[in-house]
Amino acid sequence: MDYDIAIIGAGPAGLSFACCLRDSGLNIAVIEKQSREVLADPPIDGRDIALTHLSRKLMRQQGSWQRIDARQVSPIQRAEVIDGDSPYTLNFDTPTDNTDALGFLISNFRIRKAIFEEFETLTNATLIDEAEVSQVSTDENGARVKLASGDSIEASMIVAADTRFSVTRRQMGIASDSHDFGRTAIVCWMEHELDHHQTAFECFHYGRTLASLPMPGKLCSIVITVPSEQAGQILDMSEDSFNMDIETRLNGRLGKMKQKGKRYPYPLVGVHASRFFSNRFALIGDAAVGMHPVTAHGFNLGLSGQDLLASEISTAISQRRDFWDSAVLSRYQKQHMLSSRPLYHGTNSIVWLFTNDSLPASLVRKAVLRICNNLPPVKWAITQKLMAKNQIRSILPGIAKCGQEP
Ligand SMILES: Cc1cc2nc3c(=O)[nH]c(=O)nc-3n(C[C@H](O)[C@H](O)[C@H](O)COP(=O)(O)OP(=O)(O)OC[C@H]3O[C@@H](n4cnc5c(N)ncnc54)[C@H](O)[C@@H]3O)c2cc1C
Repeated sequence: MDYDIAIIGAGPAGLSFACCLRDSGLNIAVIEKQSREVLADPPIDGRDIALTHLSRKLMRQQGSWQRIDARQVSPIQRAEVIDGDSPYTLNFDTPTDNTDALGFLISNFRIRKAIFEEFETLTNATLIDEAEVSQVSTDENGARVKLASGDSIEASMIVAADTRFSVTRRQMGIASDSHDFGRTAIVCWMEHELDHHQTAFECFHYGRTLASLPMPGKLCSIVITVPSEQAGQILDMSEDSFNMDIETRLNGRLGKMKQKGKRYPYPLVGVHASRFFSNRFALIGDAAVGMHPVTAHGFNLGLSGQDLLASEISTAISQRRDFWDSAVLSRYQKQHMLSSRPLYHGTNSIVWLFTNDSLPASLVRKAVLRICNNLPPVKWAITQKLMAKNQIRSILPGIAKCGQEP
């Protein structure tokens, strides 16, 4: 074998997985279409990622969190959910039990840069860049990755982190539940007149949603989701009209608004693979579960999932068992399914409920906001889910025995 593990995709999930296996003794290849230069200095893509406490913990263990300038990490102290024009809001505050924030907002290009810098310190991993994977296959003896250049690489196992539209997932015969929302998210940064007080606003307006996430200083990350046929109109708006439009839709909560940089469109498609492994093959990151961004769980799930797989593999190695064995991979699948399935379907239900303008949906929406606000156990449970402090295995005692706690 050329390598023990061939990871396809040097996105944040694939690189994190390599970092988690730093001390495993495994010889790892990461195969990526893009060049090393782009990975080392990723362009701004307009995405700002809300990270949970678990993600902060995992990135600290990995070493990448420390590489991000603390001034670029924006704590989210409060979240307000607004329904249409109603003055009623559902509020989530940071618990008063020594918790420092509900979550932490960091720009995606900074996260990618930090993880790549950490990856560059590994002595057991090789980056094969500017290399597009065209075919993967596995049998009882090993796994093969064929590149578009005609070269091929042999490994004991393949781990695919090649986006939610993963071609290798399909080649390995893994079905997926895919949902095209018919909507597009448009993201950008905006400067504003008033202090955001580290508050995130999620406004479910009729026909569209608008989120404002607090960035360092008087800056916020704006996420607008609209039916895709309206996206072009928003992207083409003059800056003055766009500024005025967002100011009005936020009801002046942040005062005067001014766009900073470009607007970026992202068509929204959710994907959940029916299985996370097959023979000598596993899926991580968006290739396993690609989420709608409204609940901000996509990369958080990607980070926790790759950590679960790396822990199972490390445990198998320490017990001198084959790390690609289906019993090892099925334990990873069991845990990651338990955490990702409810989140995936729950998020899709929230999207349906809060983008549906029919009268019954509007009534249910109003009721849901009031129930969440007025029932402390419900509010507590949602707040805990938003913050996600622990890995799934520490919540499920039966599974805790299977792997190492991060
Ligand atoms: C608007 C928006 C807002 C978001 N907000 C949040 C948030 O607040 N919180 C959160 O947790 N998540 C959020 N997400 C989700 C998050 O951005 C993704 O979950 C995360 O980037 C996925 O990382 P990944 O490594 O799995 O995949 P990717 O980042 O897609 O990386 C995949 C890599 O694989 C490479 N690749 C693909 N095919 C091949 C091939 N055949 N050969 C070689 N290389 C290949 C690609 O070039 C790429 O580098 C958001 C997403 C969007 C769109």
